Amino acid sequence: MTFLYKADPVRGAAWAELMGRAMPEMPFRIWPDIGDPLAVRFLAAWQPPVDLGTQFPHLEILFATGAGTDHFDFSAIPPSLPVVRMVESGIVQGMVEYVTLAVLSQHRDWRTYQEQQRAQTWQSHRVYPAASRRVGVLGLGTLGRAVLEQLRSFGFPCAGWSRSPQQLNGVECHHGAEGLQALLARTDILICLLPLTDSTRGILCQRLFDQLPRGATVINVGRGGHLVQDDLLRALDAGQIGNAVLDVCDPEPLPPGHPFWTHPKVVLTPHIASMTQPETAVEAVVENLRRYRQGLPMVGLVDRSLGY
Ligand code: NDP
Repeated sequence: MTFLYKADPVRGAAWAELMGRAMPEMPFRIWPDIGDPLAVRFLAAWQPPVDLGTQFPHLEILFATGAGTDHFDFSAIPPSLPVVRMVESGIVQGMVEYVTLAVLSQHRDWRTYQEQQRAQTWQSHRVYPAASRRVGVLGLGTLGRAVLEQLRSFGFPCAGWSRSPQQLNGVECHHGAEGLQALLARTDILICLLPLTDSTRGILCQRLFDQLPRGATVINVGRGGHLVQDDLLRALDAGQIGNAVLDVCDPEPLPPGHPFWTHPKVVLTPHIASMTQPETAVEAVVENLRRYRQGLPMVGLVDRSLGY
């Protein structure tokens, strides 16, 4: 019974050590050293092999090493194979840090002051209270909830949007198509933390931007496919969107010469908002294996009909 790992080999070495300590009875292998394919029961992969079903006929669980599975080709994954995405505290902590940084930078005019420093300009601007800056989060899952909890502690009026109705302490919750309109109308800083699915692809588009208050900020930490890039450029140039912080793009890396690289109102980072941390990821996998063996529901099990 082998556990196979197919992702970044450097982090794989850390996984091997941690798994060896947590489950010494389970042989752990790192791709491409797969050993006997018939013995592979569990696979943790960023990108599963194309012929997964035939190559590993006894595979019992596919663990994604990332929080999203939008890059998986589900048509090539046996329909009965459980796919579990990564839900672990390291990813959550990284995302909370990144979004807090982006929101506070925006709230406290950080970019303006950096520009002023370079121009040797000593000039203050009014500091607005957090209570006057309305934050809205698309996606009330593991990450959206954690981000809202942190932002709420600064005093930002917080709202969130999900597919199904949700309840969160101190957060105005909206859901469904009608709920989106209400969320956008009251949001100065919009954060996208949705999974990329057929229903959310291209959601950050002109129509959505037009429903935000003029000059709103857009922070996309979901996936590049959520954003219609030309619509954002138009909205930035027209002033409808004041600033954008983009951690994700389509394609990644962004091609040389793309307008986002140099746009004065865009902050761009190379998909680093949050990363799976081997220590906490292995803990999550071990806990899910325990649940699986005891017939309990695994945390992060992907609902293929919904795509997340
Ligand atoms: P979850 O699956 O826990 O949460 C997803 C949320 O989105 C849920 O609240 C869900 O609604 C909502 N949602 C899904 N589809 C729709 C829809 N059509 N309309 C409205 N709401 C919808 O995901 P996580 O919070 O763990 O992660 C979110 C995403 O963040 C990942 O899929 C990934 O794309 C991105 N990510 C980015 C990283 C980065 O470094 N930039 C790192 C990690 C993740 P409901 O509650 O009703 O199910």
